[in-house]
Amino acid sequence: MPNILLAFSDTGGGHRAAATALADALRDLSPDAELTLSDPYAASRRWPFDRLSAAYPRVVNHASWLWHGGFRLTNTPRVTRALQALAWPALRPAFRALEAAQRPDVVVSTHPLLTSPLRRAFPDVPLVVVVTDLASGHRSWYDRSASLVAVPTRRAQSQALASGVKASRLEEHGVPVSRDFAAQPGERSVLAAQLGWSVVRPTVLLMGGGDGVGPLELLAERLDAAQLPCDLAIVAGRNAALEARLRARAWRGTVHVYGFVNGLGRMFRAASAIVTKAGPGTISEACAAGCPLVLSGAIPGQETGNVEHVVANGAGVWAPSAPLVVDAVRSWCRGEAALDARTSAAEAALAIGRPDAARDIARRVLTLAELQRRDPRPPVHHSGSNHRQRSRPSVSRPSLMPCTVRHVDLMRSAL
Ligand code: UDP
Repeated sequence: MPNILLAFSDTGGGHRAAATALADALRDLSPDAELTLSDPYAASRRWPFDRLSAAYPRVVNHASWLWHGGFRLTNTPRVTRALQALAWPALRPAFRALEAAQRPDVVVSTHPLLTSPLRRAFPDVPLVVVVTDLASGHRSWYDRSASLVAVPTRRAQSQALASGVKASRLEEHGVPVSRDFAAQPGERSVLAAQLGWSVVRPTVLLMGGGDGVGPLELLAERLDAAQLPCDLAIVAGRNAALEARLRARAWRGTVHVYGFVNGLGRMFRAASAIVTKAGPGTISEACAAGCPLVLSGAIPGQETGNVEHVVANGAGVWAPSAPLVVDAVRSWCRGEAALDARTSAAEAALAIGRPDAARDIARRVLTLAELQRRDPRPPVHHSGSNHRQRSRPSVSRPSLMPCTVRHVDLMRSAL
């Protein structure tokens, strides 16, 4: 029975979403697989690691210069390795406990800061790194000892190669997204009706990642004040204070306010456009849903490349201020050319969407799990890396094993 550990960190919502999409795909392909979803940092009870998810929205909202500075200073293989070595003594107990509890056949990581500690804690288990940054991710993603590094785009592939990952361990699949985001032709107005949205007027979805970061309130206010021929749906995510303020406001037009929504697939498929920061999860889901994007901001560093990816492919526009956002939405809602412009951006989004990424990566994970169960090998040292790892030829065709299922969520559990 394949036993797979999927590790993520709740810094934002994208890493968990990718891990969850993969878990769903694994369950579809191998219903009896034993899957464990875990946020090892949250469970570590070691400051500052156990505070990452709470600190992330604050730093991003109020000190993005600090985030950018940290990203740039640490974004070299040498500094990355040094910091990971420094952090390991504090993380060792939690990761060792995870290792003792799980005994997986394959470990999957969807967060760059997990790659190194997972490799140390599970030296003789195949590690699959699923990169969720589209084009300008941090160097710490790219561990040369990983059995497989799944990247979302060609640009990420070049980055991985430049960081020393062997081409034979590198595959381009896209960011794993839940199958609920995959667009079906002609469904938009049916879904809009189910959601209680207008079936006549377009609805523009406004959001800021899992934590509702960025100037969402200001953007909502300006869009509402512009009285455009569209309704608004605002997803505040885990930002409860923002949700409360938005709900308390008197709006001129129709505005639907939501907090954290579990499973945004239906909304993305029903929306006519999405205004968002350039989060890779949201972008990948919007493209799978064929929904064009207005990118109102980007976390400096890892999200900068995402903007280029969207704009260069015609799937959306870069509008880094409230007036630019209003102009962009207006150009897709008002005037004779609006529908054509919106439709062609929606088609471009669909063209770069990868709704099957989760399933494709899940197949590869199951192949590695099967190999590991059939032929566990002693660990070897990998040149150029401090970590021990198995050397194993890559095999491209999976053969799935029927088995018994267990799904455990270790999120926030004490180890
Ligand atoms: N998300 C969600 N419910 C919400 C808000 C966001 O499930 O109410 C998910 C969204 O579908 C996406 C993720 O959170 O998968 C946000 O990821 P992204 O990479 O865009 O930004 P992050 O929050 O990681 O910075």
